Amino acid sequence: MKELEDRIRKDGIVREGNVLKVDNFLNHQCDVSLYDQMGAEWARLFEGKRIDKILTIETSGIGIACVASQHFGSVPVVFARKTESTNLDGEQYRTEIRSFTKNRVYNVIVAKRFLNPGEHVIIIDDFLAMGCALNGLLEICDEAGVVVEGIGIAIEKGFQPGGKELRERGYQVESLAIVDSMDPETGDIVFA
Ligand code: 5GP
Repeated sequence: MKELEDRIRKDGIVREGNVLKVDNFLNHQCDVSLYDQMGAEWARLFEGKRIDKILTIETSGIGIACVASQHFGSVPVVFARKTESTNLDGEQYRTEIRSFTKNRVYNVIVAKRFLNPGEHVIIIDDFLAMGCALNGLLEICDEAGVVVEGIGIAIEKGFQPGGKELRERGYQVESLAIVDSMDPETGDIVFA
């Protein structure tokens, strides 16, 4: 999506360790108008699919998913919560997710009452890198018995394996910007 690529070129900061900082518009200060264009683009890409709910993960996915929902008939947005608690509650789906940026493991939960067997879901998130966050959400979807119609990502780092693996497993992954390479010294970002 050209608008997103242009904004990444303008405001994205390439950090050591393959981290792209986009907190000026995507995941700290939020450009709602850009979110809206992203939502419209996912609606186009997933056109014709039945979507009952959008699943995302806190924190950065929530705003993006809520704005996108308005392009899918304002379907409910469910976000997986990151929690310190290891409390084994039968009313929650629960999995572990390794964070690429923070290099730690989170417990992640979704209340069972918000994902019902047979519902059709798309998953939306800000970044796709190694695929750990997505794999955790997909495990929860599997356990819940929902149908995953697709995965909408704002920025995929195409030089990391997450996106390729998910596509090989048959998921429709729609990333609005795919970064092929980025250089922390020059700040250069090349898109696919
Ligand atoms: P994965 O689980 O696919 O390795 O990474 C996805 C999650 O890690 C995203 O939800 C995002 O929060 C974070 N993440 C991964 N790479 C980056 C990055 O380059 N920049 C930022 N800001 N977040 C990232």
